[in-house]
Amino acid sequence: MGRVVRVLKLDSRSGRRHADRARALVAGGAGFLGSHLCQRLLADGYEVIALDNFHTGKRCNLAGMARDASFTCIKHDIVDELPADFAVDEIYNLACPASPPHYQADPIHTFKTSVLGSINLLELARRRNAKIFQASTSEVYGDPLVHPQPEGYFGNVNTHGPRSCYDEGKRSAETLFFDYSRTYGIDVRIARIFNTYGPRMRPDDGRVVSNFIVQALRGKDITVYGSGTQTRSFCFVDDLIEGFVRLMNVPLALQHPVNLGNSVEFTIMELAELVVDYTNSRSRIVHRPLPVDDPRQRKPDIAFARQYLGWEPKVTLNEGLARTAAYFETLLGNGRPLAAKRSSRLSLREATAP
Ligand code: NAD
Ligand code: UDP
Repeated sequence: MGRVVRVLKLDSRSGRRHADRARALVAGGAGFLGSHLCQRLLADGYEVIALDNFHTGKRCNLAGMARDASFTCIKHDIVDELPADFAVDEIYNLACPASPPHYQADPIHTFKTSVLGSINLLELARRRNAKIFQASTSEVYGDPLVHPQPEGYFGNVNTHGPRSCYDEGKRSAETLFFDYSRTYGIDVRIARIFNTYGPRMRPDDGRVVSNFIVQALRGKDITVYGSGTQTRSFCFVDDLIEGFVRLMNVPLALQHPVNLGNSVEFTIMELAELVVDYTNSRSRIVHRPLPVDDPRQRKPDIAFARQYLGWEPKVTLNEGLARTAAYFETLLGNGRPLAAKRSSRLSLREATAP
């Protein structure tokens, strides 16, 4: 664990404001993406309040910000109402467990987080006339029948399977955001995030990149679910956060959500082989049952983000894996130096990707 961050209760928050700074609220601020966003907003001159129930978030993710006078962390579950007088200028809603094992552990609370939590934050945005951002997901496309997925595709989602609490919760949240926008004129921004990875993921997060790296570094079996022919496209966290900030600040009245992700597609088997190759691990690749409703393919169409945000990912999987593996090596403290080996296969692949 890192240094303990100052955590306040919601009713003991500071009323003091920096007159010259905009105040941003980051719900889910102690999580993987949320902590990187808090750091970026502080660097951009915001006063930042992280709100988190610490379900999957960790205080140590915020340790680097603990001494910053412009930063406050408040323990609060967004399913519970926020005080009417809570003063904010911008709201980012990232609060929701994102990894399948974590969001399926308490599916009803996951659904409430997306629906009741969004309503609470939207009500706050309405009262404060604040701009509000929603972290939506590529899961709104379900197991897509259109490939790659443009924003105009309505998706292919099971309403009652084990992933539905997340997928349908996020779809409902999108509906709520646009209904609040149409009804009350609130400025809403919705990012449909595709698989993103990087430092500050939990070793027990359960998502594929962290699982494979942690397994490889520990010399454990690399668990490929199913045959490994399913595909995903992996975005490094720094690229995604840049996309968030651009989306929040673009001076456009946005009429739809925006895909943010990397459009270089890999099979899960390819990823497993790359991680073993990159880490010089002796781990074996083994197969485990494919989870129910696991999407067979996924790759974002990011034409809109390219054209209107001037955004596209810059960090290659090679570089992103190196930075993530270095993070986990330090965290796990196994001290074994990583082979400074870069996969020529990967470089070749990314150089030729559309
Ligand atoms: P994460 O699990 O690390 O972060 C989620 C954070 O929200 C955690 O700090 C958690 O404690 C907090 N939280 C959960 N429920 C809450 C509640 N009811 N009240 C207050 N706080 C709560 O996951 P992440 O990868 O950082 O994802 C952040 C957001 O981005 C999520 O909304 C997720 O759905 C979305 N997203 C992420 C990805 C990705 O690849 N990382 C992809 C699509 C969407
Ligand atoms: N996956 C895997 N082994 C793991 C974790 C995940 O093969 O240890 C697979 C999973 O079945 C899915 C893909 O990797 O096909 C991405 O899974 P993740 O949970 O990271 O994200 P999501 O399914 O939400 O895209």
